[in-house]
Amino acid sequence: MKLVLLGPPGAGKGTQATGIAEKYAIPHISTGDIFRYNIKNETELGREVKSYLDQGALVPDTLTVRIVKDRLNQADCANGFLLDGFPRTIAQAEALDESLSEQNETLDAVINIDVQKEVLITRLSGRRVCKDCGETYHAVNKPPKQEGVCDVCGGPVIHRADDTEDTVRNRISVYEEQTAPLIAYYEQKGLLFTVDGTEPVHVVQEKIFSALDKDAD
Ligand code: AMP
Repeated sequence: MKLVLLGPPGAGKGTQATGIAEKYAIPHISTGDIFRYNIKNETELGREVKSYLDQGALVPDTLTVRIVKDRLNQADCANGFLLDGFPRTIAQAEALDESLSEQNETLDAVINIDVQKEVLITRLSGRRVCKDCGETYHAVNKPPKQEGVCDVCGGPVIHRADDTEDTVRNRISVYEEQTAPLIAYYEQKGLLFTVDGTEPVHVVQEKIFSALDKDAD
């Protein structure tokens, strides 16, 4: 299974990605996670990308494509992968197509999680995340049992620097301008499956699984 998860920030891509990767035994590759890991560990890549993430702007295509190509060349991607947060521009999508076709491969499906803008702003500005294990919370809808402490691992629950309201609005407009055109791009290729991301997490998950299982038949 070679899959792409598409959707605006806050659509629930990360949550759904975990379930999909587990069910189909494929690695979950999140470019956002790769960048954040490098920033946290103060690597050269981290220093290069930090200001883009802080502003909610996109990291340049050449750099992002190089990181993803390197990742897809690793052994655990031999039987497939789930890309989360990549591609985010038409240029990235074309680079991915090219790179796959060099190996006589193509994507199997693109899952588009659809959520309206107003819902995204509420979700993201209230989002809290465990710095250690990545478990997500919401300040109002799903707070941890003890404030600031992760229910799962006891790690610190924080407000991501790019989840503040101004940055969130910027990330959403970047999505609308640069990433939303990918919906038509993949629709034309007959790869797109759209699911309503405002439904409960388990309903969204069941719909994705049944679409992918049908696709595999
Ligand atoms: P995410 O966790 O997917 O919301 O990504 C967080 C941030 O990482 C984005 O706001 C961008 O600054 C950067 N980023 C992640 N994926 C990409 C990508 N495919 N292209 C450019 N920038 C990206």
